[in-house]
Amino acid sequence: MMKVKKIPQRKCVGCNEMKDKKALLRIVRSPEGEISLDLTGKKNGRGAYVCPNKECIMKAVKEKRLERALEKPISDAVTKQLLEDLEHGQQ
Ligand SMILES: [Zn+2]
Repeated sequence: MMKVKKIPQRKCVGCNEMKDKKALLRIVRSPEGEISLDLTGKKNGRGAYVCPNKECIMKAVKEKRLERALEKPISDAVTKQLLEDLEHGQQ
């Protein structure tokens, strides 16, 4: 028998596809209620996973799946911040 390592999978709140956890970005709502991209993977709080692209983030916000996952309304300012964080994170 060969040992098969199971890669943890998470669902993107944008396109709703299951992907490797490592291929996704985590969006976190901190205990203080602040929403941000977790580029380090170490932030505390309630998290949601999304593909590292603008389309999936926009879709997750527009279809209200992100706010449902984080149990907090996502404002335009927060959306803008997430997209900016995404750009910086990919540099
Ligand atoms: Zn996606």
